[in-house]
Amino acid sequence: MSSLVTPRQAGSPSVSFEFFPPKSEAMADRLWETVERLEPMTPNFVSVTYGAGGSTRERTHDTVRRIAQQTHLRPAGHLTCVSATKDEVLSVAEDYWDAGVRHIVALRGDPPSGMGEKFEQHPGGFRDSIDLIEGIRAHRPDLGRCFEISVSCYPELHPESQGWDAEIAFLKAKQDAGADRAITQFFFEPDIYVNFLEKARAGGVTMPIVPGIMLQPNFKGLKRISNLCGASLPAWLHELYDGLEEDQETRELVTANVAADLCRKLSDEGVSDFHFYTLNRAGLALSTCRLLGLKPKPVEAA
Ligand code: FAD
Repeated sequence: MSSLVTPRQAGSPSVSFEFFPPKSEAMADRLWETVERLEPMTPNFVSVTYGAGGSTRERTHDTVRRIAQQTHLRPAGHLTCVSATKDEVLSVAEDYWDAGVRHIVALRGDPPSGMGEKFEQHPGGFRDSIDLIEGIRAHRPDLGRCFEISVSCYPELHPESQGWDAEIAFLKAKQDAGADRAITQFFFEPDIYVNFLEKARAGGVTMPIVPGIMLQPNFKGLKRISNLCGASLPAWLHELYDGLEEDQETRELVTANVAADLCRKLSDEGVSDFHFYTLNRAGLALSTCRLLGLKPKPVEAA
């Protein structure tokens, strides 16, 4: 296994955190508190999602810009191809650049009606994530070539997948188009990641493939999203949450321990980078990091 892990992935553990843009003042306060509490964990980067159909365009941009300007964190802005022309999407990339953001998570995205619905290319828009990566790289060569670009990947296949050969070839094509890193859909069994990594490496994918670790203590919500995105929930996970519907405190403890246990098993396989889907909850991400032995470092004023 260790030979499958690239040199950039070897070494001391490093983490990154995903946030979503807030919908209200109260949610903005919670997000900002989360950012402040997680900054001392010195993440490799933090990323901010982009809503279906560009529905969060302004909020995503404001959040990413604020992180870039008011913290020492390195933010990545998610960008999708949905419901926008190429020019509109590339102008968001330019805005990111002007705000000091140097990292984009380039995605095709889902239709505004939601995950599971058929994606339709916007007339004048990007066809898919590969087209988007190529568009960013070709746009204003002074900017496009300098962005770090991360992409998605699917260790249990994307619901629209045409099978493993096509899936790996598609990921390799993202790399060839200029992607620097892939972040996985969430999963709960280490073998799912290990087997996927083997397939990807055999298919010529050499970029780091960072496991995406879900920190969702609401098991009902987790089941709903898993059904839509094709990530499996093992029987032992159902068992762990069984009967905890009214007990959020215990669910959170279970969630942090399940995530830390998965990371430890992946560490045993040589993995050292972990991307946490934080759902803007500082406590869960912090306790998972602590369980992995990560300690906060003092943060100087930005
Ligand atoms: P792509 O990787 O471009 O394609 C998805 C799948 O379709 C491929 O894996 C493959 O199975 C199939 N496919 C498509 N074209 C081809 C082809 N030519 N040949 C073979 N197979 C093909 N959604 C949001 O709306 N906002 C976000 O901020 C966001 N962030 C995400 C972050 C991560 C790390 C991940 C894993 C997902 C994220 N998503 C987000 C969800 C994502 O938008 C959906 O999964 C969407 O359905 C696919 O977008 P994609 O960029 O992964 O698509």
